[in-house]
Amino acid sequence: MRPQSLFPLFAPVTSLPGVGPRLAPLYEKLAGGKVVDLLWHLPSGVIDRRFAPKVAEAPDGKVATLVLRVDAHFPSDSPKRPYRVRLADETGFLHLVFFHGREDWLRQQLPVGETRVVSGMVEHFNNEIQITHPDHIVPLSQRDEVMTVEPVYPLTAGLTGRLVTKSVKAALAKVPDLPEWQDPAWLARQHWPSWHQALEAVHAPADEYAAGQDTPARRRLAFDELLANQLALAMVRAQMRRLKGRPLTGDGRLRQKVLAALPFRLTGAQARSLGEIDADMAAPIRMLRLLQGDVGSGKTVVALLAMLSAVEHGAQAAMMAPTEILARQHFATIAPLAEAAGLRLALLTGRDKGKARERILAALAAGEVDILLGTHALFQEDVAFKDLALAVIDEQHRFGVHQRLELAAKGTAVDMLVMTATPIPRTLLLTAYGDMDVSRLDEKPPGRKPVDTRVVPLARLDEMAAAVGRAIAGGARVYWVCPLVEESETSDLAAAEERHRHLTELFGDRVGLVHGRMKPTAKDAVMERFAAGALDVLVATTVIEVGVDVPAATVMVIEHAERFGLAQLHQLRGRVGRGDKDSRCLLLYGHPLGEVAKARLEIMRATEDGFAIAEEDLRLRGGGEMLGTRQSGLPEFRLADLAIHGELLAAARDDAGLVLSRDPDLQSPRGESLRVLLYLFERDAAVRTLRSG
Ligand code: ADP
Ligand code: MG
Repeated sequence: MRPQSLFPLFAPVTSLPGVGPRLAPLYEKLAGGKVVDLLWHLPSGVIDRRFAPKVAEAPDGKVATLVLRVDAHFPSDSPKRPYRVRLADETGFLHLVFFHGREDWLRQQLPVGETRVVSGMVEHFNNEIQITHPDHIVPLSQRDEVMTVEPVYPLTAGLTGRLVTKSVKAALAKVPDLPEWQDPAWLARQHWPSWHQALEAVHAPADEYAAGQDTPARRRLAFDELLANQLALAMVRAQMRRLKGRPLTGDGRLRQKVLAALPFRLTGAQARSLGEIDADMAAPIRMLRLLQGDVGSGKTVVALLAMLSAVEHGAQAAMMAPTEILARQHFATIAPLAEAAGLRLALLTGRDKGKARERILAALAAGEVDILLGTHALFQEDVAFKDLALAVIDEQHRFGVHQRLELAAKGTAVDMLVMTATPIPRTLLLTAYGDMDVSRLDEKPPGRKPVDTRVVPLARLDEMAAAVGRAIAGGARVYWVCPLVEESETSDLAAAEERHRHLTELFGDRVGLVHGRMKPTAKDAVMERFAAGALDVLVATTVIEVGVDVPAATVMVIEHAERFGLAQLHQLRGRVGRGDKDSRCLLLYGHPLGEVAKARLEIMRATEDGFAIAEEDLRLRGGGEMLGTRQSGLPEFRLADLAIHGELLAAARDDAGLVLSRDPDLQSPRGESLRVLLYLFERDAAVRTLRSG
């Protein structure tokens, strides 16, 4: 249970003075709905308001604080024109400009003849000096309160900097005194402040540097977050180790049949990975292994062969996919092989209901099913195996750690194989999977042709559409991915619908549309039509399901490719080039194209190696921009930025390992404090793995 000392931080933001039901949703959108979320909402810079020139010396484009006498009001005479107020000092006059200004309010704020302190961005405009929508207008008595260095917070529509600053201050006032959870010697070596001091410091930066990511206070907070992350992963891992494993060895009789039925030979990488998996399974420990490999690198076969060991041993295996369509695809791939080997295969998804579902469950419990494929439906409580020995989780990032544990709980000493197609750089791997063992499929099956990737300005869209039309006439099947508009799913959808209309006009009605707002069954239906060849073009928002296999698709068009992360572009491109025909990928970009975006597109053009792309992605990420990782489901950090604090990650991992080796149940005084840290970063599930949790 969360310690009482943290209750004020986990109270809703409405517990803060001045935050009512109207503002709460805005804060929720901006930072999160809890007080603690505001603590993690860090300034992105500062505004220095200490500059206090006279009007005549106030330079264009600089923030200044001026002491002025109110001269006259000039209410707006048409809705298009702003309300203006003239103020002056002994050196000259300037205008304050208010669009849609309310006269009664402005007259009350700026009474003619009175003196006011005004702070804002000075603009020289048509030979006049003006400040549009000043940030502060206060009486002379409050001058010192305004003439400070102000933190600048990222905002959202409806929340002003002033409101956010005030609420963050209120949140800081609720910070309890917590025991130090870091090792004191380490803290001293790093010259880091206490947690509380660090929080105060990052929210009161004295200059731009202090608002940056590389200050001792900021690094301390980043390390806290990384330590919580690494400790939680290590604890889950330790829990799995505590549960004894069982040695699983097959006799190879089923494998031989399946290998004989395969129309190809395993690649070197597949054989090597399978060897690593076999060794884990044969050992009396629990396997917890990640099989990493690009889309199309052949993970499914490796998983199937691993499952066969369990079945040969007389036990059962399960494989879980994140979506219905993927589960069905696995079933379609595996079924003929299973038949060749005399395996009993079943599929269980959310669509199976009533009698059909009962039949599957009964067979499963009786041990009449060797391998169960499915979706989240496998988690349901009444799904019971006779003897589950191996669980394979495909595209793991859609599932959480606790779901992994849930599936493991359905058998005794279940070995786990987790598969992901997201190429993850080694550093990030550590944040997502801790010390999980890793096998990499770093070799494509033979015969794959490279995808011809072109980077083209959007201005040439018509030309590209014409080329796509010719490809369709030649029998090609085309994915057309529409822009990602971060802020709003609705505008994503509008763009995709618009493109769908446009392409339908060009190519006729063999153009389908899928998007995130569709019901899963409707979505699957469209995808299935595309897979079956009833549609030539599939227009999609970014929902093209991870792993969907339509080998006949040979053209991938991505609009506004500059808005996608590298990992995502790579995943999308991986949808084509899966068959033996030549494939193409068109990356259409809009202007302006920033340096980083340009570099990303260039990498896409230059290589198809997912691991190389992933490393570049991490290297290019600047200023906390999590390219692609948001979509890939990797953990997002609130305080740590791995491009900057990456080297702290290894230290956090080492510290977590050391702590657990000395105090596995976190019962020492430092252990107790670390529990608080885990709760602070909402790693509650990890604490529950403790025997005395
Ligand atoms: P992943 O799940 O890693 O994206 P799949 O397992 O779906 O990839 O494999 C992609 C395609 O490659 C499938 O059609 C599969 O039959 C084929 N394949 C797998 N291994 C090999 C191999 N060693 N040689 C040739 N083709 C292979
Ligand atoms: Mg796959």
